[in-house]
Amino acid sequence: MTSETAALAVDRVFESPSSTLTIEFQGGEPALRFDLVRRIVELAENRNLTENRTLSFAMVSTLHHFSDDDLAFCRDHEIRLSTSIDGPSVLHDRNRPNPDRNAWLQTVEALDRARAVLGHEGVSALPTITREGLSDPRGLVDQYRDLGFPTIFLRPISPYGFALKTRKAIGYRMEDFLRFYDQALDYILELNANGEAFEETYAAILLRHILTPFHSGYLDLRSPTGTGLGVLVYNYDGRVFPADEARMAAQTGDQRFTMGTVADSFDTLMASPAMQWLMKGAVSEHLRGCRDCAFVPYCGSDPVFHATVQGDPAADRRDSEFCQKHMHIFRGLFRRVAEAEPETMRTFIAWAMRKPRDEVHVSGWVDR
Ligand code: SF4
Repeated sequence: MTSETAALAVDRVFESPSSTLTIEFQGGEPALRFDLVRRIVELAENRNLTENRTLSFAMVSTLHHFSDDDLAFCRDHEIRLSTSIDGPSVLHDRNRPNPDRNAWLQTVEALDRARAVLGHEGVSALPTITREGLSDPRGLVDQYRDLGFPTIFLRPISPYGFALKTRKAIGYRMEDFLRFYDQALDYILELNANGEAFEETYAAILLRHILTPFHSGYLDLRSPTGTGLGVLVYNYDGRVFPADEARMAAQTGDQRFTMGTVADSFDTLMASPAMQWLMKGAVSEHLRGCRDCAFVPYCGSDPVFHATVQGDPAADRRDSEFCQKHMHIFRGLFRRVAEAEPETMRTFIAWAMRKPRDEVHVSGWVDR
């Protein structure tokens, strides 16, 4: 990305009417152009002196390439770091081969360095769950516990971009993921019942929608969609997309999602043919399948997923893996809420309310 493109992207960011703005850096590896990261952060902070928005920064990184100065900059400007840890070392190294075959070790050493500067909470991690990873849900959860993470976010691999090419080798059917998910969630609930606070973040997001009047803010589970309306992605070459998944699809030749370039105004981007097309699938309550579904208040429309996989942003959701996944997880969560086992409810309420377990008093909450 050139400095000019970066500066134009900052202009577009501040054309958004939102009072809360997050600028997230993703690669490739953004730490390899930390000079540009610094420039964008400083530009945005200067601009915000007059804009007065709630402004925050995040970065997805292997953590391998940060100098001490870079980490100090992240600390001083409150850039939240997120990295990938796919499980125990054997699995992680196989997923992320490097010349020295030590990707896991490098990541864990870099994690320690980053935590020493940013604090323990300053770095989070996400697993990419491959076919091989499905065989050991406890091993994955235990890896995150061993590394001192209080949460894990369990998501199937994405059907977009390069992941599509490798899907034959590492992919799986949704029912295989859901079996893995159920086993992992059972184990995590068992840990919580035994007094160890540990969160499965996807369940926590859904429970926030189910058990509270508040939305989690999670982009893929919004209606109207977060696609384009809650996020814009500025590619290194200046093209603008309504979601990271749309950028990934474009990388493999699907250009239907390109909104325009960073030189276009925010209003022009929002009125682009790509957005008009995607908005046909933006509101769950109008979509075939969803409009008759009991779970629609808690779910989302995700038009990019359905445009990519089914060819139509407004496709009937009942035929999609997105729906298969959510129908299954909602049923599992509602079954547990109906059973109202006190320790499970304590865990669910703690996750939904974002409170420590010991501040949750279940007694009287459920009328039985
Ligand atoms: S579970 Fe399926 S049908 Fe129900 S709202 Fe979600 S996507 Fe739509």
